[in-house]
Amino acid sequence: MSSIEKLPVAVVGGGLVGSLLALVLRKRGYDVSLFERRGSLQEIEEQAGRSINLVVTRRGIDALERVGLGEAVLEFTVPVTGRMMHDRDGELAYQPYGRDDKECNYSVSRAGLNAFLIRQALERGIDVRFDMRLAEADLDSGRLRFDNTDGETTVEAETIFGADGVASAVRKAFEARDDFQLSIDMLSHGYKELYLPPAEDGGYRVERNALHIWPRGHFMMMALPNTDGSFTGTLYMPNQGKDSFGQYADADAVRELFRREFADSIPLMPEYVEDYLQNPTGELGTVRCAPWHHEDRVLLLGDASHGIVPFFGQGMNSGFEDCSVLGDLLDQHGRGEWGSVFAEMSRRRKPNCDAIADLALENFVEMSDKVGDDAFLLRKAVEHRIEVAMPELYRSRYSMVMYSTIPFRDAFDAGVVQREILDELCADIDDAEQVDLEHARRLIDARLTPFLATRNISFDY
Ligand SMILES: Cc1cc2nc3c(=O)[nH]c(=O)nc-3n(C[C@H](O)[C@H](O)[C@H](O)COP(=O)(O)OP(=O)(O)OC[C@H]3O[C@@H](n4cnc5c(N)ncnc54)[C@H](O)[C@@H]3O)c2cc1C
Repeated sequence: MSSIEKLPVAVVGGGLVGSLLALVLRKRGYDVSLFERRGSLQEIEEQAGRSINLVVTRRGIDALERVGLGEAVLEFTVPVTGRMMHDRDGELAYQPYGRDDKECNYSVSRAGLNAFLIRQALERGIDVRFDMRLAEADLDSGRLRFDNTDGETTVEAETIFGADGVASAVRKAFEARDDFQLSIDMLSHGYKELYLPPAEDGGYRVERNALHIWPRGHFMMMALPNTDGSFTGTLYMPNQGKDSFGQYADADAVRELFRREFADSIPLMPEYVEDYLQNPTGELGTVRCAPWHHEDRVLLLGDASHGIVPFFGQGMNSGFEDCSVLGDLLDQHGRGEWGSVFAEMSRRRKPNCDAIADLALENFVEMSDKVGDDAFLLRKAVEHRIEVAMPELYRSRYSMVMYSTIPFRDAFDAGVVQREILDELCADIDDAEQVDLEHARRLIDARLTPFLATRNISFDY
């Protein structure tokens, strides 16, 4: 009988988080084997053409910079400086995201970024194994059994990282523990990808540096730019009931929906009916679990331990931040002190990942419904004025989440204090120019600044 291969470190899942994690570990001298169920790098590269795009923000860029790849990744992104709202008549309204255009999100192809990170892993000597679908894991012995096209492969790893996404097979093995808590809350909404091709001259048909949103109450469409002049659109709707994927299920119904709700997008999407009918409806949900680690052997990261809905654009970014925190802890603890590193990871990251999960759910209401609402727009405009006038005292919650590495929990709690201040400032005005900035400063000094001091938060980013 052939002996089982022994490995020092196995990362299961070569997606966005697993491939970055492998680079973080390699940088610290660990011999890493990365197991990915997809067949080859070429297969991932082929997905890059029309794949979904996502935004990378400060936390993600910071994590990439730590492995020397921040600048290289930014080169194949498109900066997105604000939201462009499209109403039913095609009227546009633009809302900048940050204090100025330097504070922006970067739109990137998910598969393009994934392929880039795996190529880097190969170049840096990481043992990347494709066509390896984890079928079974034994957390105590570290034994991993993978299915592949030729049969199956079993290895035994001293240390295992589960970065195999929202339906994690590594996490599944945790369910054998009596104390393991798992909740998976599915959203009643799903999503469909749509494609907005480049103009005939290869340019962009609508404003390039914006997230385009068609907010329609309990459903919405959005589109993010790609580097080639195209946009990837995503339609979010309930799965069943009024205005749902269930209701709009044939070509005529889809045309009727778009003519009524998204008329100005029709010339941008010549194949929207085919896309809509052919593309699968994706599911959205929130995964929470505890503990994230098993003794000193196994740790879950990324969507495997904290899958969130996409409405704050922080799923990958928070998974990348896991990699940064893990790297810091490895530097602080002695080599091979996995038990203390894993326990500290769960202690530090879980409250923050729970906070961004809640923020992401809350932001769905903001994006789909409130961005078209006058009171909301006024509050945003007032907040923008304050942020520009006194950036050392006030940064919006959005800015803290997207453009800083302030812990998500602190950003969440600071946002509660800020909401009270904005409510008071907006009570008697109907235009942001009317806001009394001196009154704003007094409220901030009295309420926000003392709160920030208790959490050691400063706005020097
Ligand atoms: C519509 C949408 C929009 C989004 N937009 C954003 C955004 O703008 N910004 C942002 O930060 N996040 C966004 N996200 C979230 C982001 O996509 C995820 O948080 C991120 O992909 C998580 O990375 P991961 O590596 O943990 O998991 P995944 O990316 O899912 O990777 C898991 C990997 O494990 C592999 N795998 C799975 N099972 C096995 C197995 N049994 N054996 C071996 N390998 C396995 C998979 O093939 C995959 O490569 C969005 C998500 C959606 C759905």
